Amino acid sequence: MLTVLTQIGGTVWLFNFGVYKVLKSSKSKRVKVLSFIVAYLLVSFLVIPPIAESLGRVPLPITKSGTLIPHNYITPLLNRHYVKPKLKSELLDISNSINTDNPKLKVSYLDANFPFIDGFPLLPHLSHNDGRKIDLTFYYTQNKKEGNLKPSNMGYGKFVEPNQNEVNQTNICKSKGHWQYDFAKFVTLGGRNDLEFDFQNTKKLVRQIVNRSTTHKVLIEPHIENRLRLNNDKIRFHGCHAVRHDDHIHYQIK
Ligand SMILES: [Zn+2]
Repeated sequence: MLTVLTQIGGTVWLFNFGVYKVLKSSKSKRVKVLSFIVAYLLVSFLVIPPIAESLGRVPLPITKSGTLIPHNYITPLLNRHYVKPKLKSELLDISNSINTDNPKLKVSYLDANFPFIDGFPLLPHLSHNDGRKIDLTFYYTQNKKEGNLKPSNMGYGKFVEPNQNEVNQTNICKSKGHWQYDFAKFVTLGGRNDLEFDFQNTKKLVRQIVNRSTTHKVLIEPHIENRLRLNNDKIRFHGCHAVRHDDHIHYQIK
């Protein structure tokens, strides 16, 4: 489970408990778990970043002081914030430009990739396996004021629902038997209901992404794509085998 969630956690767990076994130590379970947590944090933040960098992936900023920020600290804590250096520099360009244009706005990222191994999927995202993909949050307003507040604590699962006259892709996919399509609603870890979808700023962000020559594609729900009216063939529908994309933007480079 630790390997699926964090890639390196399972290895640190085995190493940690292996050491106690070799030493024939009778330390309590609590001490062993505590030492695992300390070892996991040390390995995650001191050992992994330089090794990952030498193998071609770099961590994104883990504090909220810059213009590119984790929406939730759980993402870097689980080592799910690694990308190719090219994607990092594109993201920083985009976030700096958005922030220069409007200092109230930053770019919040969600799941990216693990630090190592092309093809090792970052579940539940099957395609986040090569350092080229990342999910970003939409923008929302609170009492018409712009900012960086988001409706879901995890970043996923609070949807911008289609209107009655828009394509309802969720109904289409679920009627075809794709039960997982709106599964993200179960993993919000709580949230808030006082925010409104900020169409204008979300459109600015998507436009910034699709105008870059390195961008391969952006995945977003059909009714959001129709509202954005960007008419760009890099914006695509992900298919019913994936999950709803009216709670985040999936961005990937070539
Ligand atoms: Zn994605």
